[in-house]
Amino acid sequence: MDIPTVNILGIPIHQMTRTELFSLLQERKEADQSTWVVTVNAELVMRAREKQQVADALQQADLLLADGSGIVWAARALGSYLPERLPGIEVAEGLVKWAAVAGLTMYFLGAQPGVAEEAIAKLRLKYPELEVVGHHHGYFQEAEAAGIIAEICSRRPDILLVALGAPRQELWLARHFADLGTCLAVGVGGSLDVWSGRVKRAPAWMGDRGLEWLYRLVTQPQRAGRMLALPRFVYQVMRAKMIGR
Ligand code: UDP
Repeated sequence: MDIPTVNILGIPIHQMTRTELFSLLQERKEADQSTWVVTVNAELVMRAREKQQVADALQQADLLLADGSGIVWAARALGSYLPERLPGIEVAEGLVKWAAVAGLTMYFLGAQPGVAEEAIAKLRLKYPELEVVGHHHGYFQEAEAAGIIAEICSRRPDILLVALGAPRQELWLARHFADLGTCLAVGVGGSLDVWSGRVKRAPAWMGDRGLEWLYRLVTQPQRAGRMLALPRFVYQVMRAKMIGR
C-alpha cells in the first residue's frame, strides 16, 4: 500500500488520519480488496520485539495504525509524525456506523460467552439497521478454528471484528485471514466488553491526556504485569532516539 509509514522500534505504522482510513477502506471495499487492519499500541510493539511470531504476524497485516498516545508520542520523540491516535475501539465504532449506514454486514468473534449478544443488543439501540450476521465467543481451542472459519465463511460478512485481545487476535488472523473470505478484518481487543457495558472506557479527558493506561491500571489491576511493557517501551524509544535508530 502506498502510504508513508513511521518506524516505531521496528514496526512500520501507517501515517493516516481517521478520515483517510475510512475513505481507503471504502475504496478497497469497492475494489473487492481484502484488508486486515491492526491497531498497534506500545504493549504490542514490545510483544513483537520479544516474540518473532508476533513481529511476523504484524508484517502480514495490510494496515498498522497508531492505537494509543504512546505510539503518537514515540513518533514525535523519534523526529517523525503520526497525525492522530486511532484506538481499536474507535475504529470499531466507525466500522459499526459505516456498516449500519451502508448496509454492510458484520460478524463478531471474541470475548466471553454472552458478551457479543449483549454488545449487539446495545449497538442496535443506537444503530437499528445494523446487521450482525453471526458471532462466536473467543474461548475456543485451535482445534475448533476450522468449524468457526467455516461458519464465518458461510455468513459472508463484509466486516469481521476479532476481539481475542492482543496478540492472540493478530496471531489468529495471521494464520487464518486468507481462509476467511471476508473483505475487512480488524483486531478490536476489548471493544465488545465495552459495548456490552461490562467494561468502562477511560473518560475522554484521560484519553486526551494519554492517561488511558492509568485508568485501565486502576480499574483492571490484573493488567499490571502486562503494563510493565510501557516503561520498557519508553526506555527503548529514548534509547533509539539517543543512538539515532
Ligand atoms: N479474549 C478472548 N479469548 C481469549 C482471551 C481474551 O476472547 O482467549 C477476549 C477477552 O474476553 C476480552 C478481549 O479478548 O474481551 C481482550 O480485551 P483487552 O481489553 O485485554 O484487549 P487488549 O488490550 O489485549 O487488546
